[in-house]
Amino acid sequence: METKWEFSAGGVVYTKNEKGDIEILLIRVKNRWSFPKGNIERGEPKDKAALREVKEETGVDAEIVEYLGEVDYWYSMDLYRIHKFVYYYLMRYKGGQITPQKEEIDEAKFFPVDEVESILTYPTDKKIFERAVKSLKKIGEI
Ligand code: ATP
Repeated sequence: METKWEFSAGGVVYTKNEKGDIEILLIRVKNRWSFPKGNIERGEPKDKAALREVKEETGVDAEIVEYLGEVDYWYSMDLYRIHKFVYYYLMRYKGGQITPQKEEIDEAKFFPVDEVESILTYPTDKKIFERAVKSLKKIGEI
């Protein structure tokens, strides 16, 4: 089977609720919860792509705090094996109503940081979330 590569960028977006507790933005596609992300366009910087995809998929405006790292995974589509790389950024919520992108996203929602690990579906997302928590501790947000 032929292999193809895909490159996406996404965000772990956080905000503080009225009590001052940290919440994290997750998306649901069917029954799978993950972080918003999407294809990097040709020539597009990774950070721009990540912010654009967060906005397109969830309606949320965010700003980048720092780069968290990349993950990769494989999946099959038609006659291809796809090797996918995703670059993630920690982002701070700036504004915007949550509006899930109609065609692709079933739900988008902020969850308390303590609940996120058990809601996430994919091991690679759990790894990125661990880094996000470390980063939030480092900058004194939690
Ligand atoms: P994008 O959101 O980057 O535009 P997409 O929606 O086309 O991409 P993916 O979200 O990568 O595609 O999903 C493609 C396949 O890979 C699906 O079968 C999905 O269940 C699976 N998948 C998605 N994320 C992961 C992951 N982190 N680890 C393993 N498999 C994943």
